[in-house]
Formats: sequence, C-alpha cells, structure tokens
Amino acid sequence: MRKHYIIILCLIAAGCGNISNKQICWDRGQWLDLTWDFEKSTVYWPTNVTFIHDTVTFGINDKGYFYSSFLYAAEEHGGTHFDAPLHFAENGRSIEQILPEEFTGEGICVDVSDKVLADRDYLITSEDFLGWEKTHGTIPAQTIVLLRTGFGQYWNDPLQYTGTLKTGSEGVGELHFPGLDPEAALWLIEERNVKAVGIDTPSIDYGQSADFLTHRTLFSHNVTAYENVAHLQSVPARNFYVVAAPMKIKGGSGAPLRLLVWIPEV
Ligand SMILES: [Zn+2]
Repeated sequence: MRKHYIIILCLIAAGCGNISNKQICWDRGQWLDLTWDFEKSTVYWPTNVTFIHDTVTFGINDKGYFYSSFLYAAEEHGGTHFDAPLHFAENGRSIEQILPEEFTGEGICVDVSDKVLADRDYLITSEDFLGWEKTHGTIPAQTIVLLRTGFGQYWNDPLQYTGTLKTGSEGVGELHFPGLDPEAALWLIEERNVKAVGIDTPSIDYGQSADFLTHRTLFSHNVTAYENVAHLQSVPARNFYVVAAPMKIKGGSGAPLRLLVWIPEV
C-alpha cells in the first residue's frame, strides 16, 4: 500500500498521467512551431496588401558598432494568424480582449486529407468528427480543434495552395481550398463546446464561400479561429497542448499569430 502511494506521488511530481492506458508525461516532450515565416511571399487574401518588411538601418553606424532595424506592415488576416470574434461579429470582442485561457489549452488534430485529395472544395462535416471520435473518444469540452486538410504541403506554391495567383475581387472568385462546413462548426460548438478551431488553409470557410457562415457561426459564439496553420502533418491526433498567442493589437479583428504545440512523450 505504502509502495503504491509512493509510486503515485512520483508520477504526479513528474507530471505524468494515464490517458486511455497510455502513459503521458507532460513535463517531457517537444515544442513544435506551427507558424509560417512572415515574408514578402507570405500568402494574404487576394484583396489584401502583402507583408511589408523594409530596412530602416543595417550596418556599422557612425559610432562604429553594428545596428539594424526594420519597418514592417501587415494586414491582420494573412500568414499564420488569429481571428477574433470582431472579424465577423459587430459587437464581438477584439484581439486584445481575448484572454490567455482562451488561446491556450489541450488540442486535437482531425486529419481529413484523404477526402480533400478527391475534392479541393471539400467541406469538413460533423461525420468527420464522429469518425475521429470512434478511434480517439469523445472530443472533450474546451478543446482546441486543429483541422488537417493536407494543404499545408502547398504553402510554397500559392497557386496550388489558394487556387489562384490573381489579386483583387477576380482572385477572390477563383479561390479553391477546403474548409469547415458551417453546420459542423455549429455541431462543434453546441455538441462539444470547443474553445477554438484552426486550419491549414487561408480561411476556416472554404475558398468558394460567399457568405462566410462558418466564421459568422464561430464568432457569434465567441469561438476563435487560426488560419494558415503550418506543419500539421507532425501533430498527433490528441494529447498535446496549444499556445496560440496573437499580437495584441488594440481593437484588432485579428492578428499575426505565433502558434506552438507542446507534444509530450508517450
Ligand atoms: Zn482571418
């Protein structure tokens, strides 16, 4: 009895726990950066200005030491970024009002890349989530749901990634990439009480959406979103911790995001 007590104490001290007969040690693992670089070629919406990073000073100054400083400018909704409810909800909260407990927490990753191979306009449905649950169990409340469509592999090929190289409204009409069905978004909110949703495409709504109903559904329920998420092929189906810290732009509808996951040893 005393021996069992000591073993349990040691496990708690080491940050370990048993989940579905698997030993998870949260204090041992690795960080994975799910953020794309911000640079001139970073994907922005066709109607947006792309990322600006200009040299202000670079080199040895007149005092004899090296000094560099740059100017950057960016639209809120390009590259790996965070959407606040204000993006599509008139009275929704802006980015600086999102609390740390809302952009951190345990995550799951749902892989629909097989279905997307046959249809680049694929809409992720609640059936996809039920299929995930058959293997991994019910999605816990307040989970951060990452959606892997496989489009991350096209990041360096903007035509393949978005469906167009055109800019302006003409480009918007030619966007073709998968997204989350609005009904599935409502299902995640009402049936699973999720915290946030992320996707490896330019938008949580699919490319051909004209009404952005998935955005509107999520944000009217105070569920936030991450877009252009990188490297989801390296994220397990569950048992990882998400840190999605956006730039704190007062009054912003979204912001550049540094998205990290902690993947514990199993
Ligand atoms: Zn956005």
